[in-house]
Amino acid sequence: MKCHICGAEIRAVRTDPPIQSDEQCIVIFKNLPVLQCENCSEYLLEDAVMAWVDEAMEKVSPSTELEIIRYAA
Ligand SMILES: [Zn+2]
Repeated sequence: MKCHICGAEIRAVRTDPPIQSDEQCIVIFKNLPVLQCENCSEYLLEDAVMAWVDEAMEKVSPSTELEIIRYAA
């Protein structure tokens, strides 16, 4: 698989990406499996991981500014 930004190889890695749910809230997902470009900082989430992230984000209170969620699947 190739990066759609720069065309370099994409690898499956575990990382802790901060994902912003709205203006107030940033969620850091610990140990999340992502597909990361080895050249630029672009990364993709597989559909199943994306669905898990969406579900986890919905459980975060809107008043929370920073939440850390460990990926467990
Ligand atoms: Zn790239």
